[in-house]
Amino acid sequence: MTTTPTTAATTTTATTHTARPIAPRALEELRTTDDAGRPTTPFTDTEGGAPLRCCLRRSEPGERIALVSYAPLRRWAAETAAAPGAYDEVGPVFIHAQPCDGPAGASLPFTGAHRTVRRYSAQGHILGGRLVGEPDGFEQALTEAFDDPAVALVHVRAVEYGCFLYEVRRDYGAGRG
Ligand SMILES: [Zn+2]
Repeated sequence: MTTTPTTAATTTTATTHTARPIAPRALEELRTTDDAGRPTTPFTDTEGGAPLRCCLRRSEPGERIALVSYAPLRRWAAETAAAPGAYDEVGPVFIHAQPCDGPAGASLPFTGAHRTVRRYSAQGHILGGRLVGEPDGFEQALTEAFDDPAVALVHVRAVEYGCFLYEVRRDYGAGRG
């Protein structure tokens, strides 16, 4: 088997948990002004391989994308009674520059590198985290996180850059959301 460019593939892991992309309404806003208040500047991705938080896959060369500041906890808190306070963070994410179809599958994306699974309470406070080094470790780390009844939400983040990749929320069961 020949070596393929690491930038072209998105390693995914089968799961019972749901990786949530950035919500359509937030994407619509981010495509104009990002969460740091800066105007969004689309560009053509000549190399590909950018982890897209709208589709939860890596970009293909030639796609129009944008790098924007995103506040995942603030966006989540706006839907809940949470008050993250100082835990609110804004960081860089890649998104498609235009409306897109969203994720194609139900697997956990971006599992081919070291990640942190960071746990948050219903108040939006950090409860801890775990370093995950192998694709097989994600399911266990998520199950462990939600075994703690105090955990409402986790962020999967890149280790070296610290960037937010996606969130996983507690599954309250069928019919509840
Ligand atoms: Zn997209």
